[in-house]
Amino acid sequence: MANLDRGNAAHRVVIVGGGAGGLELATRLGDRFGRRGRLDVTLIDRNRTHVWKPKLHEIAAGSMDLSAHEVNYLAQAHWHGFRWRIGELTGIDRERREVHVSAFIDDEGQEVTAARSFGYDTLVLSVGSCSNDFGTPGVAEHALKLESQADAQRFHSRMVNACIRAHAQTGPLRPAQLHVAIIGAGATGVELAAELHRTTREVVAYGLDRVDPSKDITVSVIEAAERVLPALPERLSKATEVLLRELGVQVHTGARVAAVTADAVHLADGRVLPAELVVWAAGVKAPEVLKDIGGLETNRIHQLVVKPTLQTSRDDDVFALGDCAACPWLDGAGKSLGNVPPRAQAAHQQASHLFVQIQRRLAGKPLQPYRYRDFGSLVSLGEFSTVGNMMGGLIGGSLMVEGLFARVMYVSLYKMHELALHGWAKVILDTLARLITRRTEPVVKLH
Ligand SMILES: Cc1cc2nc3c(=O)[nH]c(=O)nc-3n(C[C@H](O)[C@H](O)[C@H](O)COP(=O)(O)OP(=O)(O)OC[C@H]3O[C@@H](n4cnc5c(N)ncnc54)[C@H](O)[C@@H]3O)c2cc1C
Repeated sequence: MANLDRGNAAHRVVIVGGGAGGLELATRLGDRFGRRGRLDVTLIDRNRTHVWKPKLHEIAAGSMDLSAHEVNYLAQAHWHGFRWRIGELTGIDRERREVHVSAFIDDEGQEVTAARSFGYDTLVLSVGSCSNDFGTPGVAEHALKLESQADAQRFHSRMVNACIRAHAQTGPLRPAQLHVAIIGAGATGVELAAELHRTTREVVAYGLDRVDPSKDITVSVIEAAERVLPALPERLSKATEVLLRELGVQVHTGARVAAVTADAVHLADGRVLPAELVVWAAGVKAPEVLKDIGGLETNRIHQLVVKPTLQTSRDDDVFALGDCAACPWLDGAGKSLGNVPPRAQAAHQQASHLFVQIQRRLAGKPLQPYRYRDFGSLVSLGEFSTVGNMMGGLIGGSLMVEGLFARVMYVSLYKMHELALHGWAKVILDTLARLITRRTEPVVKLH
């Protein structure tokens, strides 16, 4: 049972993982209760800054101005009444109610903070997910992933270098040169392919005039299922595939990857697709550290099994939200639809739910179950095309959306995240500033 009454000491909420869900929760709790000392809120993350993960493909392609979207945890904590501490979660002692984090070592190998522990009364784990390569040979060595800002920047740098190298060389291009293969045609893979199509042309237009984008650069997506966006309605897959092909992206469906080597993707049917840049964007799992952490129950992809209240199945003081939680998804009639999918909208909803539940917990009221509301999915195919499906009672089922309306809905998902972090005034002013400066800025940022 939680020690809800700590006398004069404020109840300690520790949130591990400051992503789409965790940072929103820390900010809202800090704003409402941290400033007045009614709650002692600590956010722990292994990084110093936050970037909303669905924006990573834009960093990878070079179309995002990082400085306009990166949130510094220390500053956010200062302005919103919570404490931020750096470190990577290594374990939990549920008896002593402590979380353990590793030492933080900087890029030059210097220790910045030693390994330490933080006491909690309520613990929220929101450490997200990482890619699942299902043990495919060569992926760990040769494929890039899009899990963090560092991964996205590494991809971008390799892509620009590949263009510069191709431009400077005197001999003909090798078969794999300037070929990008993206494994996985879910939203991440499809969005990256479309964004790359545009930005590689922009990079070349900076003066790398010996590279002919339409002839020399190839972007392909490889998907084991029979269609792109296999988790979304078929009509949406078809429309997306048509748009991708119109952009010149090569689409390989029903193609299972057997291995990745330094300059090719090998398919199970024997085909070999030469590629110097390979991105693995197929499948996710929760971070390895969660496997059996503190004796909590986890599933086969290491997600923490939670009750509908988002409390872990074996400890009511430990909650999990977002991608790292295996949370039951029930329809309106209570029928099971499996688990809540790993999406930003789920992390956002769960953070809002927990914001209320933590207040109920402190007031000694029973917790309410979380119910996932699927508003549909939107996929951005470059700046001017967005497709998606909208769901919900209001429209009575699923409705396919395209064009400007879909674009506005896509952008609004990120706006909701920004609003949760910064409030209306800052978001409106920042959006106006971005719209004004946009025309004078280059489309591709060469970082
Ligand atoms: C390229 C890409 C595109 C996407 N596009 C979409 C989209 O269009 N729509 C959509 O709904 N979803 C999209 N998603 C999925 C979406 O980003 C996730 O579902 C969402 O970010 C999950 O939120 P979260 O809070 O659970 O975890 P995250 O946002 O991943 O945050 C996890 C946080 O935990 C920290 N962390 C991890 N491990 C540790 C540790 N051991 N110790 C301390 N800190 C740790 C990380 O640094 C990070 O800050 C996309 C994902 C990717 C990668």
